[in-house]
Amino acid sequence: MKVYINGKYYDRGEAMISVFDHGLLYGDGVFEGIRIYKGKAFKLKEHIKRLYQSAKAILLDVPMGQKEMEKAVFEAVRINAKNDGYIRLIITRGEGPLGVDPAQCAKPTVIIIVGDIQLYPQEYYEKGIAVVTAASRRMPSDSLDPRVKSLNYLNNVMAKIEAKQAGCLEAVLLNHEGYVTECTADNIFIVRDGTLLTPAPHYGALDGITRMTVINLAPSCGITSLETALTRYDLYTADECFMTGTGAEIMPVTMIDGRLIGNGKPGPVTRRLIAGFRKLISVRQ
Ligand code: PMP
Repeated sequence: MKVYINGKYYDRGEAMISVFDHGLLYGDGVFEGIRIYKGKAFKLKEHIKRLYQSAKAILLDVPMGQKEMEKAVFEAVRINAKNDGYIRLIITRGEGPLGVDPAQCAKPTVIIIVGDIQLYPQEYYEKGIAVVTAASRRMPSDSLDPRVKSLNYLNNVMAKIEAKQAGCLEAVLLNHEGYVTECTADNIFIVRDGTLLTPAPHYGALDGITRMTVINLAPSCGITSLETALTRYDLYTADECFMTGTGAEIMPVTMIDGRLIGNGKPGPVTRRLIAGFRKLISVRQ
C-alpha cells in the first residue's frame, strides 16, 4: 500500500503526520470515502465537489484545485493497482500550535489512502439488519451542519456505540425536533405505498452520494421518490426500509426498535433498487 501525503507517496508503515496536526487535535478537517469499482473511482466528481463544499463551509482552503485533486486520486488508484476498493481522501487544517485557533496552521494536510472496505457480511444484504433509535441526537445544523463531512464523528461514534450496546449493528439518529435524519454513516429510506421517502438533508443528514444515486435510479425501476420529513412512526409503519452509503451500498433494514418492518424481509422495492445499483456499478466503467 502506498499512501499519498502532501504530494508524496509513503509505504503504509511510514505514512505519518504530525501529532500537532489540528485534524488530530481537534477533528479539524474534512474527508470523503469513495469506492473503486472495476478500477475506477465511482462518482469521483461528486465526491470531490462535496469535499470542497465541506472545506468551504469550515473556511478551509484546499491547497489544490478540484481538477488537480481528481488527478491525484486517479494516480493513487493506479499506483495501488486497485480494481475493487475504497479511497479515503482527507484534508486536515494542518500542523499548528496546541490552541484551537487555526490561524497559525501553516498549510492543510492532504492524505489519500487506497485500501479495502467490507462493512457487512453478505448474509445481511439478504436478510436485512436490525437498528435502534439512538438517544444521542444528531448534531444540530446550526452548530455544525451535518452536510459538512467533517473529521469530527463523535456524534456518530456515540450513536454506533449505542447501537452495539442494544445488540444492533446500526442506529438511527433523530434531530432535536424528533425528525429522522440518518444512520451513523448511512442515509435512510423507507417505502410507503410504493413510494420512496427519505429525509431532506436540511433535517440534519449528509447529502449522501449513494442516496442521490438511488433517487436518480428510482424512476428506471418504476419507483417515485420524495424528500420529506419522517418521524419514528413513519419508520415503524413503513412497508420497507433501507440504508445507503458508499461502504454499505444499499442495506435492507428489517427491524427498527423491536418492530418488524413489513414482513421482516427485504421488500420488493429494496430488492429492485439493489439489483439496479449492482447493474449500475458493473456497467458504467
Ligand atoms: N451519512 C453519514 C454520516 C456518512 O458518513 C455517510 C458516508 N459514509 C453517509 C451518510 C452516506 O453518504 P455517501 O452515500 O455519500 O457515502
